[in-house]
Amino acid sequence: MNFEQIKSLDNQYVLQTYGRNSVAIDHGKGATLWDTEGKEYIDFTSGIGVCSLGYANEQWAKAIYDQAMKLGHISNLFYTEPYAVLASKLVSASGMAAAFFGNSGAEANEGMIKTARKYSYDKYGQGRATIITLKNSFHGRTITTLKATGQDHFHEFFFPFTEGFRYADANDMDSLLAQSGDDVCAVMMELIQGEGGVNPLQKDYVQAVAKLCAEKDWLLLIDEVQTGIGRTGSLFAFQQFDIQPDVVTFAKGIAGGLPFGGFLTNEKCRNVLKAGDHGSTFGGNPMAASAANVVMDAMTPAFLQEVKEKGEYLRAGIAALNSPYVSGIRGMGLMVGVGVQGMTHKELKDKLMAEGLLALTAGKDTLRLLPPLVITKEEIDKGLAVMAKVMK
Ligand SMILES: *Cc1c(COP(=O)(O)O)cnc(C)c1O
Repeated sequence: MNFEQIKSLDNQYVLQTYGRNSVAIDHGKGATLWDTEGKEYIDFTSGIGVCSLGYANEQWAKAIYDQAMKLGHISNLFYTEPYAVLASKLVSASGMAAAFFGNSGAEANEGMIKTARKYSYDKYGQGRATIITLKNSFHGRTITTLKATGQDHFHEFFFPFTEGFRYADANDMDSLLAQSGDDVCAVMMELIQGEGGVNPLQKDYVQAVAKLCAEKDWLLLIDEVQTGIGRTGSLFAFQQFDIQPDVVTFAKGIAGGLPFGGFLTNEKCRNVLKAGDHGSTFGGNPMAASAANVVMDAMTPAFLQEVKEKGEYLRAGIAALNSPYVSGIRGMGLMVGVGVQGMTHKELKDKLMAEGLLALTAGKDTLRLLPPLVITKEEIDKGLAVMAKVMK
């Protein structure tokens, strides 16, 4: 089918819940994509931070194929090898204690929220269920994770929302203390707010929050759905903030493109959720777990160091454009935010796309770049050349 045929089929039969780009992507290799009309793009999106090993990675595809030919699915009522192996890899690389597997970021955050509330209920009884989250955060699209999201416009239409969330300003301990109280059981945050505009939290603030949580026996809940699995140049971003969460979630990049999400708990929380308290039919599916094992095996210290270096190279390249449209450059590793002025972030994204570079937007005025972690210097240079053409 050509683009117009696909688009008209979609418009007739699909709920139009996305602000889609006028392009149908057909295939890719590495960090390069081609649309149905044969046009080539450099990809600075990875889906939305998902395709960490790029497109058509042979080891990844082979692991999925081999597992599909062996056992495509079995319920969580049985043990499977890829599942247990993946959990052991995540635990040993993160300093956490045990894993739960689901299918998406919102579902991972739901499980983390349930862990915090049950931890508190088991120890202190009812009335201590409130979770403090940060303004400008994003935690997902379910009724509970929408309410956990600290942006008012996500709290419309779908009433009644889950109770028990209060919001503090990021990087502001006084604001957090003002939301404190006997009803609180946890603080939940992203270390770099992704959808909110690629806003990194300050290290001293994060460490002060961790200390406060330890003092009050509030759980420290870190949402690494976007920042996790190598994106920032360490397996988890929290490892660069020198903190240890009680619970941390991951999703987007973990299985390189198959649906997968989950959370890791520390020793203190590993027995909070018991048999029957939580579950997921598809969670930890053997094909998805096999794909995730390939992604985890790629996360060597040398690979993570390259992610850091490529991120610095990309940020330096953007800074060197001296573009009048750039108001600032933020981020860590290959999670890069470019403040846009003089046109809207959407206008800029569309102009880049027309010239062969795919990018994302975030917040009110940020161009968000999340290239595949395997992107080459040559591909980054091609992307920078498009940025130079459009933004000089
Ligand atoms: C994308 C995202 C989510 C939601 O993940 P889904 O897989 O879309 O449910 C939650 N938290 C953060 C930080 C995210 O970036």
